[in-house]
Amino acid sequence: MNGRETPSKRFVIRGGRVIDPARNFDRTEDIGVDGDRISAASESDAAPAAGEIDARGLIVCPGLIDMHVHLREPGAEHKETIETGTGAAVAGGFTAVACMPNTKPAIDNIATLQHVIERARQIGVCRVHPIGAITVNRQGTEVVDMTALKQHGAVAFSDDGDGVENDSVMREAFARARERDAAIIQHCEYKAISAGGVMHKGRVSDALGLPGLDPRSEEDMIERDIALVRETGARYHVAHISTARAVELVRRAKADGLPVTTEVCPHHLLLTDDACSEQDPNTKMHPPLRTAEDVAACRRGFLDGTIDCIATDHAPHTAEEKARGFLKAPPGIVGLETALALTCEALSEDGSIDWCGLIRSMTVAPASVLGVTTPSLTPTAPADITLIDPRKSWRIAPETFHGKTRNTPFGGRDVVGRAVATIVGGRLRHQLADEAHRFERLSPIN
Ligand SMILES: [Zn+2]
Repeated sequence: MNGRETPSKRFVIRGGRVIDPARNFDRTEDIGVDGDRISAASESDAAPAAGEIDARGLIVCPGLIDMHVHLREPGAEHKETIETGTGAAVAGGFTAVACMPNTKPAIDNIATLQHVIERARQIGVCRVHPIGAITVNRQGTEVVDMTALKQHGAVAFSDDGDGVENDSVMREAFARARERDAAIIQHCEYKAISAGGVMHKGRVSDALGLPGLDPRSEEDMIERDIALVRETGARYHVAHISTARAVELVRRAKADGLPVTTEVCPHHLLLTDDACSEQDPNTKMHPPLRTAEDVAACRRGFLDGTIDCIATDHAPHTAEEKARGFLKAPPGIVGLETALALTCEALSEDGSIDWCGLIRSMTVAPASVLGVTTPSLTPTAPADITLIDPRKSWRIAPETFHGKTRNTPFGGRDVVGRAVATIVGGRLRHQLADEAHRFERLSPIN
């Protein structure tokens, strides 16, 4: 991106463990960058004054993609902007994000869509793929003009924040999305079932005397949607899956050969509703933190391939908004700067991680759902690259976040694994300050 503004530059990322899921590649190799593209390392090497990044001990992989982010612009710039949100993204190792359309106005029209695309292009920190709304103003009654929105750059459709409850509206949405080969990303929740709930309905909500969100509100909508997928053949993606039965429904749909995919958030792989015991508003989110059984089912679902993608549901809210108390605070937590480490923690078994599987779920898998270019480190591919130190120990310090807000229940947690550098279109957009020695031989080109 913005590659034409400056002369072409070359550098080599040397000595890293290259993991490139698109070609099942996992071994030590040098990667060349020439301008905004990947090149053969030998070619970049030969160029005079080529720079160099020392990647020894690091994983070098295609740039991570977060397919579920709330950038809040336009309409709620006090929470986040495209500039701060994409800054948080590259700090977390993401070279691309897909942003949800629950902005004000909603991304249900071409003008708002173009505004988001244009702002992201001007800022140029990372790639932004806007998701269009399924229905006009996300009200669940009238399906948007998907043809026009897709032509102008919407990558998929979602009313995230709300599920589309009306059966015939949803049937029509699926039929239209099918014609345009766009995925429907559903926030699965029947409000009549979940109404008023502030946390998972169960033992902990009963003990606290708080109104609970019944897991059936999520599961019943997935069930309805899968029936409609069977009917229409549309591509269907379940957003932020959180219950054991939901995972089982997706597992069966996949076994039936239906075009169904899903994502899970790091917090649903790590925390249970017990975390809500102190009524910390930073443990309030939709879907809510569930039971230990649900967490275990989500982990199993990820490991057996039922769950395709890791996504953050990055949902910034200000300290003032979260200070309204557990009952009144808006649901949601930020995730871009913690996702990689938290996912490592959730998926490490006996201290080892299937890095190829983890990276696939944050690169190739979300790209395939969104229908964007397959991330890869093969020559001529866009030079979107993430360098990860898989052994880096650090403490999550919300006060250092690049995003505007600090709403996370993970502050103070000791974690392992961190993005050391994020390269977008051949440009270094993030580098970890205490790893500066790795970039000494990178001439001042970025
Ligand atoms: Zn949602």
